[in-house]
Amino acid sequence: MVNNPVLSLVIPCYNEEAVLPETIKRLTIIINDLIDEHKISAHSKMLLVDDGSRDRTWEIIESHNETNKYVHGLKLAKNAGHQNALLAGLNHAKEYSDCVISVDADLQDDLNVLEEFISKFNEGYDVVYGVRKSRATDTFFKRSTAQGFYRLMNTMGVKVIYNHADYRLMSKRVLDHLSEFKEVNLFLRGLVPLIGYKSTEVYYDRNERFAGESKYPLKKMLAFAFDGITSFSVTPIRLISAVGFLMFAFSLLIAVYIVINKFMGNTTSGWSSLMISIWFIGGIQLVALGLIGEYIGKIYKEVKARPKYIIEKSTVKLGENKETQH
Ligand code: UDP
Ligand code: MG
Repeated sequence: MVNNPVLSLVIPCYNEEAVLPETIKRLTIIINDLIDEHKISAHSKMLLVDDGSRDRTWEIIESHNETNKYVHGLKLAKNAGHQNALLAGLNHAKEYSDCVISVDADLQDDLNVLEEFISKFNEGYDVVYGVRKSRATDTFFKRSTAQGFYRLMNTMGVKVIYNHADYRLMSKRVLDHLSEFKEVNLFLRGLVPLIGYKSTEVYYDRNERFAGESKYPLKKMLAFAFDGITSFSVTPIRLISAVGFLMFAFSLLIAVYIVINKFMGNTTSGWSSLMISIWFIGGIQLVALGLIGEYIGKIYKEVKARPKYIIEKSTVKLGENKETQH
């Protein structure tokens, strides 16, 4: 347990000009209050990670950095995606913090529970997970896909905290361990529970996005998939699975058709079983092949071990004495 810990709030921002000034304003008030109450050190700060935004996000971060002593920025050279941007911020912030809280820029996560996060840390917890009480503000589509997702993860034996996204506190030692995980396919909410240490949950209501749009629309995911086909050779393997599934589904339909035909006496003997077998086995084989391909694709990506993000510039110089930073 650290007395008066140095806290860093890590905030990934991708085209968040509409919401960023408000986010910074609200977080500044909270940091000020926590410092006044002696819950965190006066060296605490927020680290805004600009994930290759194309709008004025970085200009906003820079201008606040000049006037607000708590605001610091990290600019990634190109869009690396939410998880990678978050990791860039966490790895950077752990060098000068006792604990780090990751929070989205869009004010969907209730900032009032930040105080509770810190209290839990001061009680000796290394990880504090923010868990959504309700998903009332999410669309039906988002709610049901998310629910299906958690269920699927759990049945496949992956330990994820139900209704927890990336709103969480982690201590420096947990972050040190996190950077020992070298995988490229980054899924932080699956990794953190693997690290262990004493953890707890804090419950909060999820709000609507304060301004701007979700950076995860369906269109973007589909565009990603298409991009993958042209620039990476893993995706065609995935298509094998898809074709296999279609063939498998089709074989079931054909089976029904063939069985009906058979009972109506319209077929030559042996034809029905032959047709069903061909389609069924064919479908299953393609699915299996695609599945194997999926794992090979993962290995392919891991072996390359490409850097997950590229930092272009930062307003915090690592290695500087904490005292000299503003
Ligand atoms: N984000 C990011 N890079 C991306 C996409 C999103 O840094 O490529 C950030 C975004 O600015 C936000 C957080 O990740 O702070 C979560 O994104 P968003 O709110 O759009 O997702 P949703 O809440 O709709 O799932
Ligand atoms: Mg959001």
